[in-house]
Amino acid sequence: MTRIDDLLAAGPTTSFEFFPPKTDAGEARLRQTLRELEALKPSFVSITYGAGGGTRDRTHRLVVDILETTSMPPMAHLTTVSHTRAELRDILARYRDAGVRNIMALRGDAPADADEVFYAVEQAAGLVELAREVGGDRFAIGVAAHPEGHPASTDLATDRRHLAAKLAVADFAVTQFFFDVEDYVRMVDELAALGCDKPIVPGVMPVTNVRQIERFAEMSGAAFPVELAERLHAVEHDEQQVRHIGVEVATQLCADLLEAGAPGLHFYTLNRSTATQKIHANLRSWQAA
Ligand code: FAD
Repeated sequence: MTRIDDLLAAGPTTSFEFFPPKTDAGEARLRQTLRELEALKPSFVSITYGAGGGTRDRTHRLVVDILETTSMPPMAHLTTVSHTRAELRDILARYRDAGVRNIMALRGDAPADADEVFYAVEQAAGLVELAREVGGDRFAIGVAAHPEGHPASTDLATDRRHLAAKLAVADFAVTQFFFDVEDYVRMVDELAALGCDKPIVPGVMPVTNVRQIERFAEMSGAAFPVELAERLHAVEHDEQQVRHIGVEVATQLCADLLEAGAPGLHFYTLNRSTATQKIHANLRSWQAA
């Protein structure tokens, strides 16, 4: 079974997200991480799509390599930023012809240093439709969801309506990371009230570096809880302690999410394996208890 919608229908999934490395050292580290995390038998893995230049081709190469050389079904992220419709069709056709079955359709953002960007397809929902045209029923198509609302949206209710409309044409969503299970539950309830019952897989980012996660949270619009920030800053000088707290907090969030009925857990690995492995082991002990 390689389509993510089928995997989700069969029971809770575990999945890992990676980004295409830009250097040989990064490539070697990712290879090692892939080997270590493959042992956990994830349901699928996903590969992000960069803002431009050479990293975009790296996504294609990495996705096809994972498909051909590992047991992990890959999902290719794709954004509409500065691509013509013809280019998007061509990228999707290459994935289809290579046997890739899962696409994450995203709008993407203009890179901070970009002179000029264009959107031939203005919203992610348009890319979902294009992927359907190109892939027919060969693609399972995921979209992004923001439990606390997309940072650029005017208000939460409008953002939810846009998300419900996008999910009506997609198969499932994966969320931005967040720290409070209530944000996830509220989003799922609000979408249900709009008639949307597609699976929404929560994204979990274990804290391994305080400054880095605060920067990510600021960029993504995720609220970084004051209490957690205080705990982490108190041990900021001690990498082991930071990781320990990060794993403990993420394990609790994962347990709460599964109890709340989440259809799976998606881990933002940042191409490293240690925190994800520890959380996975903690959850197994918790489930066995
Ligand atoms: P959209 O769904 O198009 O939404 C963007 C904004 O437009 C929202 O404010 C929405 O409310 C609004 N909107 C939607 N429909 C309409 C409409 N019909 N009319 C008016 N407004 C509308 N970025 C990358 O560059 N590469 C990646 O690989 C990547 N992977 C990601 C994976 C996940 C799980 C997540 C959550 C995000 C990812 N992102 C990635 C970031 C994403 O590209 C940004 O969050 C981007 O700002 C929005 O993308 P989207 O697909 O949610 O856009």
